[in-house]
Order: sequence, then structure tokens, then C-alpha cells
Amino acid sequence: MNPRSLLRILVSGVLLLALMLGWLLYQSHGSAVKRGIDDADNLAGALQGQFTATLRRIDANLHSIAAQLPPDALNQKVTSRYRAQIEAILKPYGRNFPEVNGYFVWDGDGEYLYDTTSIPPTSQRRNIGTRAGFQHLKLNPDVAIAFSDSIRGVVTGQTSVAVYVPVRDARGRLQAVVTATLNLERIAQGLEQLQTPAGSVVFMRRSDDHKLVIRHPFRDSELNKPVRNAIQQRIDAGEMAGRDRFRAVTDGEYRLYGFRKLEGYPFYMVVGLAERGLLAEWRRNVVIVVSGLLLMTLALGFALWRVNRIERLRLDAQREAQEAHELLQEAIDSMSAGIIIYDPSDRLVMRNQAVLDIYGTLKDQIEPGKTFEEITRAGIERGVFDDAKGREEQWLAERTQRHKSPDGKPHELALDNGHWLLYSEHRTPGGYIVGSRIDITERKRLEVELREQATTDALTGLPNRRHFLRRLEDELERVRRRTTSEACVLMLDLDHFKRINDQYGHAAGDSLLRHFSNLLRNELRATDTAGRMGGEEFAVILPGSALQAALGFAQRVCGKLAEHPMSFGGHEVGITVSIGVASISDDDLSADAVLSRADRALYQAKDGGRNRVELADKPA
Ligand code: GH3
Ligand code: MG
Ligand code: MG
Repeated sequence: MNPRSLLRILVSGVLLLALMLGWLLYQSHGSAVKRGIDDADNLAGALQGQFTATLRRIDANLHSIAAQLPPDALNQKVTSRYRAQIEAILKPYGRNFPEVNGYFVWDGDGEYLYDTTSIPPTSQRRNIGTRAGFQHLKLNPDVAIAFSDSIRGVVTGQTSVAVYVPVRDARGRLQAVVTATLNLERIAQGLEQLQTPAGSVVFMRRSDDHKLVIRHPFRDSELNKPVRNAIQQRIDAGEMAGRDRFRAVTDGEYRLYGFRKLEGYPFYMVVGLAERGLLAEWRRNVVIVVSGLLLMTLALGFALWRVNRIERLRLDAQREAQEAHELLQEAIDSMSAGIIIYDPSDRLVMRNQAVLDIYGTLKDQIEPGKTFEEITRAGIERGVFDDAKGREEQWLAERTQRHKSPDGKPHELALDNGHWLLYSEHRTPGGYIVGSRIDITERKRLEVELREQATTDALTGLPNRRHFLRRLEDELERVRRRTTSEACVLMLDLDHFKRINDQYGHAAGDSLLRHFSNLLRNELRATDTAGRMGGEEFAVILPGSALQAALGFAQRVCGKLAEHPMSFGGHEVGITVSIGVASISDDDLSADAVLSRADRALYQAKDGGRNRVELADKPA
């Protein structure tokens, strides 16, 4: 898979993961908050139950004591008489109730009467007539219980609350007050044992004036201080229980609250669990998730950057390679020689314009991607290669073999359009085959021309002396090998030719030489050969001709010449020829020897008056 699309999938995956984790965190936040409020509510409920039970017990004890007190004993003057009896009544109530510091009995004006403490009575002698709780009972005949503010013992450092229960006469007048000091320390210790998260608070307040009765953690400055907040408002509105979440005015802490009002007593319990403690684990999860996602995003960003960079480098390299390729193509296109390059699997990778020009009709096949064999086979089918005609498969095999093991040497190749090319191929160290193709048509043409010039007389177009002599040697050889029974040689010399030159000029002489050559050529059979031996001297080989036939040929030539004078500048220029005829014999030692005999016969003809034919002697 392409690294870009892989990355795209990864990025989408991370986004999806982030969304899912975000949703999960949102959900877990909700449930953590709900759990926190539940905990606060449950705890408030438990504490309310516990504290209500304690108060009920004190309440019941105090009322029980009040009922047992003999009315006669409730007078300061008789305390010494009744002390033992009253203390006996009080004593059992102190047992198994460690929350209560002691029970006290006071008269209708608040004067001290009795108590259960072991502290000497003198120090206890005091008056509670001015205390708010006492006043409350005194002024409200139908009130059955009252409570003091929280009292912080200077020596003990312990917090307590005094509980007041009235003893009234039949008319409802206050006769005495029985009090108990409820030590809140045990409750405070109980609160301390609660496993609440850091920053949480548990407290009890008065529901009538909202003064703080006890608080965990303990805070001296707030003791007996009223408060104004949402819970206070809800208690005032008559709610018995509730849940809430707000930021505390006193310490600015966000808390999840549960509160319960005590039934029958003017108190309410509040449990406030600190969100920051409750959500600590949730927050840790948020940090882990966010940093995980951040790391993943960073890693992905880095990967994206790398991939982009690699892609950019790849594109740069590709462009450079393309430019280099184009430059190379331009360079080889500007060469006159054809260049063709095959890769190691023999597919054409590059060729220049010159190659296309050389191959002409095959150019549509010379395309990158084609193999050498495909191109060559197409060439053979179109008949492009002259050499291949008639032996196509063999030629293809040879050509392919030479291509695959190139020798680096130049080879010639003829094409059907008359063109010739010189090709050479070599293999590079990398396994590529680099071939060059040069059009040598012009050179070939010059070669043919030169070869003709070397064998042909320029003026008459007849074979020259050298070429004629070679032909004569061949004929002599055949006679010697008896593949030909007979053959004759004629020597011909135009008569008084010099006079033609003198009379009509050299050009006329040349024309006459051509005229004679044409007449002579017309008399030849396909196997016969005529040659110009020099000046106005000619010779003819007549293979397979006996002396008599050769004689006839010579006479025919003489006759034709007489019949066809040359017309030149409005004149008829006639001429005669003298001919010596010799038959080729296997006794002749050389071509020269044969020619010499014919030459001698020619001189006899000259001597005999010209325009005649003489036969040579047999060789000596
Ligand atoms: P004969 O009958 O004894 O052969 O007399 P002739 O004049 O033909 O012989 P001669 O050897 O005296 O003269 C040959 C002349 O042919 C001399 C030369 O100028 C001329 N000649 C040789 N080659 C050429 C040629 O290529 N062109 C022309 N126009 N004249 C040539
Ligand atoms: Mg001559
Ligand atoms: Mg002559």
C-alpha cells in the first residue's frame, strides 16, 4: 500500500480513537460525579442516622432522669440531703454512654444542684440562668429540649454540646433543668476515620440558625459561625435531604454535597466530597489519554513529514532522471549515426531519429518496449532485409545470435530500398546493448563505381585491357580443362584512324571509337566478350566458336562497319577495320601468347592492304 494512504488511514484512526476516548472520558466523568454525589448522600444519611440515634438516647435519658427527680429535691437548700439519692438516680445513665461527659441538675433559676462528675462540687457551683438554651426552655413552656452552641474546652481542647431538658410543674413552670454534656470528640474521631478524598468536608450545623456545630477537618475559626449557601436555603425551605454541587464560599473548593436534616432535632449533616479528589483518577486518565493522543499525533505528524519529504526527493530524482534522459535523447538525436539501445532483457529503451531515418518503412516498429527479435521479425516480414529473402528463419537466428553476443565489429547490411547500412553492437558492463547504425549507401555506390572504373574503358564502356586479359585467361583455362572444345580470339585495329583525328578532330575520333564499339557490341552473343585494348585497337573472345565461325564473325563486323558509317557534323565518316583471328589452343602458354598470334594475323591483314581478315597459325 502506498505510504500516503496508509498514513491517511492512521490519521483517521487516531481521530476516531480520540473521539471514542473523548466520549468515554465524558461518560466516566459523568459517572464519577454521580458516584461522588451518591457517596456524599449515603454518608450524610449514615451520619444522620448515627447522630440521631445518639441524640434520641440522650433525649430519652434526660427525660427519664427528669421524671425520676423527686420534686422536693429541686431546691438548693436541700441538696446535701438529697445528693446521695439523686446521684444514685443519675449514675446508671453515665454507663455505656461514653459520648456523654456528665449529667447535671439545675434549679428553675439555673443554679447548680447535682451532677455525676467526680470534679469537686465547689468548682461546679455556677449558674446557667443566662445561657441561651436555659432561657429558651424558661420562656417557651412547650419546648421539651434545647441545645447549646458548640463549646470548645480550653483545657481539654474537646468540643461538646450541652443538651437541656426541662422539669416543669403541673402548670408548666420551669422547676429544674437536667443537662448532659455531649462530647462531640468521639463523633469527630469517627469522622476522621471516614475515607473521604482530599479536600472533602463533613459537618453538622444547626438547622435553626445554621451555626456550625462540628466540622471535619476541624476549623476553630468557623465553630458556631452561621453560613449562607444553597444548602442553607434548601434547609430553610424545609427540605429534609438533598444533593448539590457548588463551589464553597469559605475555601473555594468545588464539592459534591449530600445533606440530611435530623428528624426531631435542630441539626443537619452535610457531606461535601471534593471533586478534585474524587476526579483525581479521572483526571489522571484524561492526562494519560491526552498525552497518548498527543504522542500519537506527533508521531503521525513526523511520519507524514518524512513521507512527504521522501516523496519530494523521489519526485526530484525522477525529474532529474527525466531531464538526463531527455538530454541524452537530444544528444543522440543530434548525431548523424543511428544509435539504438536495448536493456538487459533485450527491450528497446532508446533510439535516435537517425535510426528511424535509416530503416524507413520499419520505423513504426522501432519503439521503446519492443524486443530486438520483434523488430527484426517485423523487418523480415516486410522484406526490409535483402539478405534474409528466401531463408528468413535461418537469417533471423543468425542475426539474433550475433545481436545477443555482439562482437563490437562493423557488419554490412543491405536493405530492400537500395540502402546499405553498417551496424555494430557491443554490450555495456551493465548488460545493455548499444548499437550504432551508419548509412553507407553512398560509400557502397562509390565502391561500385570504382570497381567499374577499374574494369571498364571510360570512352566506350567496353572492358578495358586488363579486364579483357583476365577474361581471356579464364577462357584459356576452360579450354585447357576441356570444358570448352573450341574458342577464338580476334584482334581488331581501325585503318588509318590517325587521319580521322587529323581531318575531323579528336572528338570525332572519340565518337568514331564509340560508334565502332556499339557496332561490335551488337554482334556479340551473351557469352562473348569484347574489350578495348588501347587506342583504336579492340579484341574479342568467342567461346565455343571454331575458327570458321570466328572468321564469319570478323567478316560480319567488317560488313556492318561498311554499312554503317558514322555521321558527324553533317558528314558521313566511314572507316574500315583489319582483323586477325586466332583459335585458342590448349598448347597456348598464356593469354599473351594467344593475343600475339592474333596480333600477327592482324599485321598480316594490314600488310595485305587493310580492311580484311587474316587467320593466325596454330601455336608452334
Ligand atoms: P594503321 O592503318 O596503320 O593502323 O594507321 P593508323 O593511323 O590507324 O595508326 P597509328 O598507330 O599511326 O595511329 C593511331 C592514331 O590513333 C594515333 C592516335 O592519335 C590516335 N588515337 C589513339 N587513341 C585515340 C583516342 O582515344 N581518341 C582519338 N580521337 N584518337 C586516338
Ligand atoms: Mg593501331
Ligand atoms: Mg590503326
